[in-house]
Order: sequence, then structure tokens, then C-alpha cells
Amino acid sequence: MRLGIDLGGTKIEIAAIDRGGREVLRHRVTTPHASYDATIRAIAELVKDAESKLGETGTLGVAIPGAISPKTGLVKNANSTMLIGHPLDKDLEKALSRPVRVANDANCFTLSEATDGAGKGHDVVFGVILGTGVGGGICVGGRVLHGPHRIAGEWGHNPLPAPRADEKSGFDCYCGAKDGCIEGWISGPALQAQYRHRAGRDMIATGIAASDEADARAVMEDFYDRLARSLASIVNVLDPDAIVIGGGLSKIEAIYREMPARIEKYAFHPEGPALVLKNVHGDSSGVRGAAWLWPEA
Ligand SMILES: [Zn+2]
Repeated sequence: MRLGIDLGGTKIEIAAIDRGGREVLRHRVTTPHASYDATIRAIAELVKDAESKLGETGTLGVAIPGAISPKTGLVKNANSTMLIGHPLDKDLEKALSRPVRVANDANCFTLSEATDGAGKGHDVVFGVILGTGVGGGICVGGRVLHGPHRIAGEWGHNPLPAPRADEKSGFDCYCGAKDGCIEGWISGPALQAQYRHRAGRDMIATGIAASDEADARAVMEDFYDRLARSLASIVNVLDPDAIVIGGGLSKIEAIYREMPARIEKYAFHPEGPALVLKNVHGDSSGVRGAAWLWPEA
């Protein structure tokens, strides 16, 4: 049996997947904000409860909004700041007396979709998180590429490719880059800010995408063009068999109609459109991908 934990800022979720790949248990609790130690205890309790309910033990993978630095062995780049600076994998191994694999939640999303989601049957899958932030992950042959710096797939902090004259001014990103990261152009908040700037009022991202008004159409045209340029640069490096989109903006159905031909236009003569697919598992991808971090069980 495989156990997966999704450790988020507001909830901790556990899922158990049996040998046939079937989900046999799912449970969630509120993330304790008291202390890091309370978080470790809450995870250990979820695992022990699941195992006593199911009458067997399992392998354990954990998805976190960050990564464990290979240099220090401590959590870095996490927006759940309570985790930063702690050896989360080692502390869980101590609490649960077994090896524990910890991975970035975008990598877990990609692994989940590559294993039994939209990317099933495809060898090279590029998973895209398109929401409040822009992230991603790479799976090859059912295995996640973590990379020596644990940043493989982090395309959201590349500069926007082939900027037009009106896109060259750049802006500061929280990551420290000064030339306008992709995330700052095509995240959900960026899309809403572009619409607000143009139309003088607020609309949610999926509303902008569905609207027929001229301002909304102009903002969406820029969005599709920027997304296509950004993904074409991924295609030139990785040439994935499938690109699977997740995150809040994955609900914009026009993405799946607009992207294939637009990516083909910007990539290096691919002689065919890119395969761009909507995710299957939605919000469950973190917990499912975490479970699949132990593929050989
Ligand atoms: Zn950045």
C-alpha cells in the first residue's frame, strides 16, 4: 500500500492507494499553526490512524509547497514558512520509523497526472501549475525529475520569451529577478490586474476568459500569446509527449483549443501541434502524486 500526504498551508490530507492503484482511504485535518512539532505529530497521527483502519502499513510520500535543499537537507522555497529551515523528511522518518520521500507539490501534480491522469501512457510529461503562482514539473517514464538543485520544471521564474516592445519594461519579482518573470505575466492575479488596468473594474480570471467584451478579449489574446511563447520554449528544450495543465486557470477551456497551434507557431518547426491536456485529478493531485513517489512498491 502507498500512503500520500499533501501538506498545505490550511489542510493536511492523506490518501491510501492499494496495489491495484485504487484509492482506498482519504482523510483531511486542519494544519496546526501552533508549531512545526505539532505539524509532525499531526502527520504521524494521520498515518497511524490510516494504517490501523486499513490493517496494513504502507510507504509514505509527502507533497510540500517547497523543496528540501540537497545542500542543507532543510526545507526551502516554501510558502508555508513554518516549514522553512527544518529537516522535514528526517523528522518524519524518526516519528514513523520508515524512509519518507518528500517532493514539491508541482512535481507531485505532474507525477499524479503522468501515472494515472491526463498524461497516462505518455513517456515525457510536462505538468503546469497555472494559478496564484506559475510552476511545473517533469516526469519521464513515470519518474519525477528533481534535479540537483530541486528546481527542475520551475519555468514560472524564467523571463517572458520574445518580449514585444511594450513588454520590455520588466518588473521586480519576489524571487529577486528584475526582468519580469513569466509568473508575473500569466498567473491568475496577473491576468486580473491586466483586466483591471484596461477596463477599470475587477473580474475573476475565469470570468474574463468567458466574457465577450472587447477589453476582456484583448486581455485574453495577450494571455494566450504569452502562455504559448512561454510553453514553446519548454517544447524546444524538452519536447514533451504531453503538457498537462493544473491550477485554478486550468478551468479556462479555451486554453486547450488555443495552445496547440499557437505553440507550434513559436516552437522550432515542430511540424505538428503540441498536445495540451486538462488535468484529471484536480485538487487531489498533491496527495495522489505524493503516494506515487514510491513507484516500485
Ligand atoms: Zn520570479
